[in-house]
Amino acid sequence: MSTVAHNEEGRGDMTEETQVVPDTGELSQIKEVEFREDRLVFNIGLTEDLIERISEGLAKFHKGRQWYWGDFWAELRNSGYEWTDHIPWDSSDRPIISLSRANTWLMVRDKFLPDDRIYKNLRFSHYEAVRSLENVGAHDILNAADGAKISVQELEEVVRGMKDKPEKPKKPKVIVCAHCDRPAFDDLPCTGCMLDVATREFKKTLEDIKYGEQAPPPPEWVIEICDRALGCDEIT
Ligand SMILES: [Zn+2]
Repeated sequence: MSTVAHNEEGRGDMTEETQVVPDTGELSQIKEVEFREDRLVFNIGLTEDLIERISEGLAKFHKGRQWYWGDFWAELRNSGYEWTDHIPWDSSDRPIISLSRANTWLMVRDKFLPDDRIYKNLRFSHYEAVRSLENVGAHDILNAADGAKISVQELEEVVRGMKDKPEKPKKPKVIVCAHCDRPAFDDLPCTGCMLDVATREFKKTLEDIKYGEQAPPPPEWVIEICDRALGCDEIT
């Protein structure tokens, strides 16, 4: 597959990525760097001359070269150069890639170093979509996205859905129970009332034992236990 994205002149819409198969054209003249599909491999350290040639070559690509840009900027930064000096500008001296967008690309690049770019069906924008997730989670999602071959838009939806998950439920509010006047949690059954029900049931059982017509009648010691329990403040 190839597109003509790299032939566009002027300011492109950088929010849109065009999938391109490497067609490095003039870049292939630069023997010091390998322009692989998803990465740049620098065979020597940067020099002013090399930086100039890469800048010129890459400036022709306004879309779909985020890995190249990211790796180039990172190499500049890591070699002590001011990488922002090499964000491409158009003929009217306006940035073709905004600084914030360039920062995002570099951040995605740093999060997914060349050896992490292992998903054959995904492109840079997929990685960009999960950049805010922690690493393990991001790779789990990318792995699934790769298997299902989902679009960047679908992946963005998934990530949004993950972020919209409700926070842990807030602490229940303490109220005074309208039935028993004891403290209770709002929206939860009142433990005071439940205790009252249990106590009434227990008392009824004791009374059944003591006064129920049984043959033979309960032994003395059972009556004594019932009396003690029935006389207890807790269950009167
Ligand atoms: Zn209650």
